[in-house]
Amino acid sequence: MQYASTRNSTVSVTAARAITDGLAPDGGLYVPTEIPEISLRDIMRLADKSYIDRAKTVLSLYLDGFTPEDIDECVEGAYKKGKFDSIAVAPVVKLTENEYILELFKGPTCAFKDMALQLLPYLMTVSAGKRLAGKEIAILVATSGDTGKAALEGFKDVKGTKIIVFYPEQGVSNMQKLQMATQEGSNVGVAAVRGNFDDAQNGVKAIFTDKEILEKLKQNNLVFSSANSINWGRLVPQIVYYISAYCDLLKNGKIKLGEKINIVVPTGNFGNILAAYYAMRMGLPVNKLICASNKNKVLADFIETGVYDRNREFYNTVSPSMDILISSNLERLLYHFSGEDCSLTASWMELLREEGKYTVNGIVKSRLNEFFSAGFCSEEETLATVADCFNTYGYLPDTHTAVGINVYKKYKNKTGDTSVTVIAATASPYKFPGAVLRAIKGEQPQGDEFEMLAELENLSKVAVPEQLAGLKDKSVRFDKICDKNNMAEAVLSMLGI
Ligand SMILES: *Cc1c(COP(=O)(O)O)cnc(C)c1O
Repeated sequence: MQYASTRNSTVSVTAARAITDGLAPDGGLYVPTEIPEISLRDIMRLADKSYIDRAKTVLSLYLDGFTPEDIDECVEGAYKKGKFDSIAVAPVVKLTENEYILELFKGPTCAFKDMALQLLPYLMTVSAGKRLAGKEIAILVATSGDTGKAALEGFKDVKGTKIIVFYPEQGVSNMQKLQMATQEGSNVGVAAVRGNFDDAQNGVKAIFTDKEILEKLKQNNLVFSSANSINWGRLVPQIVYYISAYCDLLKNGKIKLGEKINIVVPTGNFGNILAAYYAMRMGLPVNKLICASNKNKVLADFIETGVYDRNREFYNTVSPSMDILISSNLERLLYHFSGEDCSLTASWMELLREEGKYTVNGIVKSRLNEFFSAGFCSEEETLATVADCFNTYGYLPDTHTAVGINVYKKYKNKTGDTSVTVIAATASPYKFPGAVLRAIKGEQPQGDEFEMLAELENLSKVAVPEQLAGLKDKSVRFDKICDKNNMAEAVLSMLGI
């Protein structure tokens, strides 16, 4: 199977090329030209398998050109024992008889980004071996907090790669900042940007297509790639866990084979929920994909009205990893929903760039309504949901997961739909201890991050992950702040070229 660009459907590249490029040269995103199928029999068979086996099966459907040995090496390297705090890798936890939490934060940085970013360096290395022999890859990342740390951790000291991360100076939690500032590894660089996440993302996208910089890289035997969810290699590992969750529910007798479930995803850049969409297109029985926004509700509005309008106030919220007004991966959905119409997709993206706004046609709108439902959650509701979930079920969600839970409850009240539902839990509550403590105590917590962790542990009786507690003893390596217009220079200087 080959990959086309959302802005040119005649492009046809291999999986290895899509993964090493990150972004297509025309500025579009790579998409599979065909979506592979998974039958109910396949699902039944996978129900008895481990996460690693499930991942191998799903990945092999998408990664043409990778040998079975390549796939074994990648998947086993990423999810082997000890890398994740759960042998299930992505465990499913029961809230009620028909509501389940899919815990995606058991990896080394305590956010769902690890699910993909532990695997991506392996996919990248294998892909580079197939087509970039001898060249070094420079990975550029714009992060709203969690991708940056997960990418740094995934790529640190990986041979043949360098990684540079930009995060919005005021747009990440203290814990997230500390995780990145203390990053170890000889091939890593981190800088804060004066601006918000969209500024950082736009800056990175501009650098990727800057002719002068690309020439400079070429002279130094380097190529750029991306570890953001614009890279197909970030999305494909995420398809696995939705299929895996279905398998777990089936295996534990919570659903019957073929029974449709709802999937709720707290959404920012539209990557995680898009992976759920691909799982559904492959044949996973899904009733609705429920897109949950925080106060930056550009996506919830879009799904409801068909108008995408980023001309609005930007808010820094208690769920900072979803503070985004330009959701890059939506471009892939528009491409599929418009019937693989690359000119239409490109024209909407141009309107977004020039006017900050576009309106989709009737066909795309009706497909959106058929497959998706959406809602949003205010700041007060987010905190109230953290407290309510903890008090009612004894389960402590993080602020992002709480957005998902809240939007799901609203959906259920409105529709009366009681289908079995899986809510993606995207981060550990210990990653946002200030907001989570405030939610359950009803007042601003005292003390530093580490005192808050201890207090939260005391209340919840769930152990603080060692990877967060251990930050206390690490020294800060990166404290550079750059203007959004100076990101290119920062990249060249960090690459030493
Ligand atoms: C990245 C992130 C999200 C948003 O995921 P997208 O794929 O960008 O939609 C939600 N929650 C957390 C904790 C995240 O790190």
